Formats: sequence, C-alpha cells, structure tokens
Amino acid sequence: MSATPACRACGQPRSRLEGSRRRPSAPEPFHYFRCAACGFLFVEPVTPDSVYDDAYYDGRGVDPTVNYRAEYEHYARTDRIHEFNDLLRLATCHLSRSDAPPGTGPVRWLDFGCGAGGLLKFLRDQRTVDSATGPRPLELVGSDVGSYSDRLRREDGFQILAPGELAALPDGTFDLISAIEVLEHIAHPAPVLRLLARLLKPGGFLLLTTGNLASPMARWKGLDFSYCMPEIHVSLFSPATLNRLYADAGLVPERVRYRGVLRFKILKSAGSDRRRRLLRGALRFPGFRRLVDLLYGTSAMPCARKPLATPTIVRA
Ligand SMILES: [Zn+2]
Repeated sequence: MSATPACRACGQPRSRLEGSRRRPSAPEPFHYFRCAACGFLFVEPVTPDSVYDDAYYDGRGVDPTVNYRAEYEHYARTDRIHEFNDLLRLATCHLSRSDAPPGTGPVRWLDFGCGAGGLLKFLRDQRTVDSATGPRPLELVGSDVGSYSDRLRREDGFQILAPGELAALPDGTFDLISAIEVLEHIAHPAPVLRLLARLLKPGGFLLLTTGNLASPMARWKGLDFSYCMPEIHVSLFSPATLNRLYADAGLVPERVRYRGVLRFKILKSAGSDRRRRLLRGALRFPGFRRLVDLLYGTSAMPCARKPLATPTIVRA
C-alpha cells in the first residue's frame, strides 16, 4: 500500500499503518490505520453490510459470541438481561437529575442499532421509567436495518426507523438514546454522532458502549485483542477519540460506572458453559469486577450528555 488513507473520524490526511490481519473469511488482508491527529483506529477495507446476514445474527458468522435469535425470542433468559437492567438504572439516574430534559409526559427513548430488539422488548415490559417528577411512561423507537428490523416492525408492533427516516426527524426528539455496541460497526462515526446529538433534547443523555482500545488489555494484546474483528469492528475508539467526537457533535462526555453491562460482557466472553459457571462465581467478588473493568476499560469509555444550553459550534 503506497499512500495511507485519510482519517475516517476527523478527516486529517495523516494516518499510519498499524498492522494487517488475514482472516479466513476474506481473501485479502485487513489493514489497521491509526490517525496521527485524533488517535482513531480504523480498518480498511470495510466489509459490505451483507456480512450481517441471518447466520451472523444466529452466532454462526464472524462473531460467534452473538446470539440474536435467543435474544429476540426470550430476552429475559439471556445474560443480556444484566445489561438491560443496568441501562435502565443509568437512564433513571440521569432522568432524576436537575439538568435532565424537563417534563412529566412520556420519556422518548431511541435504541439506535436495536438489532434483534432485546432492549426494546425489555423496556416495553417495564412500561415506565422513574424520573425526578415520578414514574413516566416510555415511548420507544428503534433504528436498524436487516431482517430483525422487519420482524420487530411487523410481528412485534415496534416503530423501527430506517436511516433515512431517522435523519428526517426534527431536532430534540428524544430524551434518551442508547447505542450499545454499535459505533464500532460504523465506518464514518462523526456524522452519526452529530445526528444522534441533534435528535437529543437539551439535557438528553446518550448511553453509548463500545470497546476501549486504550485499555491495558488492548495495549497488551495489540491487534490480537479480542475486540479486533476487522470484518465487523471497522472503527475502534479510546476515551480520548470518543471525547473528541462528542465535542465535535456538541455533547459533553460523562463517565458512568457500569455494573450489569460489565457483567454481561464478561459472561459473553466465557466461551464454554464451564467457564461461564466459574465466571459467575468470580463475579460475586467486587474486587474481580473492578479488576476486569480496569483491564478492559469498560467504565472508562464515556457516555455523553447534551447541555441544556447547547454551545454554538464554530467551524473553520
Ligand atoms: Zn483522526
């Protein structure tokens, strides 16, 4: 490769080749480039969206740890229930703050990249969310593409928006937006974060999770880090790159302390039932949870809040 590509996050022309990986799924190697300006790590070439076929959603594709079919059919019986409870806890914390969007009516929640709809189903079963003004009904909207979006729309009655429909919504539509393990699948993250920021009400909260490529484990493993799956994880972040993108979108980074999100991530990576049982035992010890959080930098990855008075962004 003679010239390196411009950064897909900040547009700077300077990037350097960090390494390449061959994968059984592709005839050509994947190249990892690091932006010299913002530190963003990105994969070329980007695999077409056709990688997200039915086999992928069943855990028979490039990521064997996903099982969207089980999540669609019985979300409460999967380990993701820990993650869902944690996200609801964090949403409740935010809505109880004085700088949350004011109001006593329904709380509008967008699950961006809703996949098989497990979180949407969980939230629909909750029906309400606690806030500073008491329990408020939840109004749910999902956004994604693919076969599960159609099923969630047709068979489950959810409002699932395609990307074009989402972009047509007015400013300040949502109190809360979740983007759980989505951003790493998106080749150009900056315009997506700007869209989500626009769709948040002033005081609204973005619950976003993605892998931490600046964590001790990621630094130790390099491109062998388990999160480096170049067919699907095409954009990789550190707290610093995420903070920069948030600022560009007019959002304020906000740290949270994950509990169930971390628990789910640990159990998801178990690989076998025996290891899962061992990990369940270890998870009873707060020290073990803290150690894993430190090694993988899960809680170090910030969420973001839209300020009540949005600062004017001046572009050069
Ligand atoms: Zn950059």
